[in-house]
Amino acid sequence: MTAPALNTSHSQAIFGAAQALMPGGVSSPVRAFKSVGGQPIVFDRVKGPYAWDVDGNKYIDYIGSWGPAICGHAHPEVIAALQEAIEKGTSFGAPCALENTLAEMVIDAVPSVEMVRFVNSGTEACMAVLRLIRAYTGRDKVIKFEGCYHGHADMFLVKAGSGVATLGLPDSPGVPRSTTANTLTAPYNDLEAVKALFAENPEAIAGVILEPIVGNAGFIQPEPGFLEGLRELTKEHGALLVFDEVMTGFRISYGGAQAHFGVTPDLTTMGKVIGGGLPVGAYGGRADIMGMVAPAGPMYQAGTLSGNPLAMTAGIKTLELLKQPGTYEKLTATTQKLVAGIKDAAQSAGMSITAASVSAMFGFFLCEGPVRNFEEAKATDSERFGKLHRAMLEHGVYLAPSAFEAGFTSLAHSEADIEATINAFRESFAAVA
Ligand SMILES: *Cc1c(COP(=O)(O)O)cnc(C)c1O
Repeated sequence: MTAPALNTSHSQAIFGAAQALMPGGVSSPVRAFKSVGGQPIVFDRVKGPYAWDVDGNKYIDYIGSWGPAICGHAHPEVIAALQEAIEKGTSFGAPCALENTLAEMVIDAVPSVEMVRFVNSGTEACMAVLRLIRAYTGRDKVIKFEGCYHGHADMFLVKAGSGVATLGLPDSPGVPRSTTANTLTAPYNDLEAVKALFAENPEAIAGVILEPIVGNAGFIQPEPGFLEGLRELTKEHGALLVFDEVMTGFRISYGGAQAHFGVTPDLTTMGKVIGGGLPVGAYGGRADIMGMVAPAGPMYQAGTLSGNPLAMTAGIKTLELLKQPGTYEKLTATTQKLVAGIKDAAQSAGMSITAASVSAMFGFFLCEGPVRNFEEAKATDSERFGKLHRAMLEHGVYLAPSAFEAGFTSLAHSEADIEATINAFRESFAAVA
């Protein structure tokens, strides 16, 4: 059975006009569908697990605005709280009690966080945390992993995963070599490579930053001992360990990946879920380190809209919803069912696949696997993924438009949604096999 051809004429007209107005017609590159081919879908509205485009087509959405929509899009309680908050104004630029509330919630939830600073995006959080580990240790070098994305700050645009890989830019022009000279890289899951970097750069490495589960090179899990090994190595060498939990925070568990794996970093960056769909990022960690941040200490970092009352409200309400008992069990069951269905559908079509999930985060690669790092992830059949992506759209399922992105489920995805999605995979795999 083939799906009826998708009418996306309004999407095409809007995206066509956007080309002359914004570079590539978008506000963020991956949205342009370059790596899957075809035209992007222009959204009109979102609700629960669904998105509707400007032509009235409905999709089951597995991006969830790239993570924030873990309770489902436009959750009624989040919307109601925002409506109430907006009556008091949209921005204060002064302290507000809502910041205390969200800060307390984050500190209670995330094992490493004793103090927190709110910013406006994950990029900002990672930029600031890098300055902080340098300020605290008095050292300049940082180790990151190939395929991990920590926002678009210069120092991190080295082997930075999906967005950059998708565009075929190993590094971005405009990033001075002097800026990335202090960025050392190692393959993910390779402790020996990290050991070697520490040995080659004695007393020069401020810290190690990583995604504790990778979502920006496709979905890649840490092998047993990897996170623990990094914890030991950083301690041994007087360096700080930073988990970039912008994606995994409040998604892998209420305490993030660090609670799930039982490994506590010195500092943590957050974003996505903690803003409940509004622009929020945060960094936090040990109180003695956070005490370096201005105005408590000398490390400067500021933000006009930081701690914005609307963003704090959406974050607070989202965390309240997530804190209810059974949340992560439900998310895990939903996602596991989906992933089992995806595997089965691919195998029925005679296609190689490796797929996995943790809590509300999942991914698959169109290759045998296992995939332990970005290099191995590149074995995935990206061209076939592009065709699969288009077929899935035609069957009413919106997947991330890149073979190197993780997928996200939400509390709003019902069993019926999952079954419909698996059926769509069955037909789409058969169509592209
Ligand atoms: C999305 C993401 C970022 C960047 O966050 P923005 O809000 O897009 O700036 C940083 N790190 C990780 C792990 C991310 O997934």
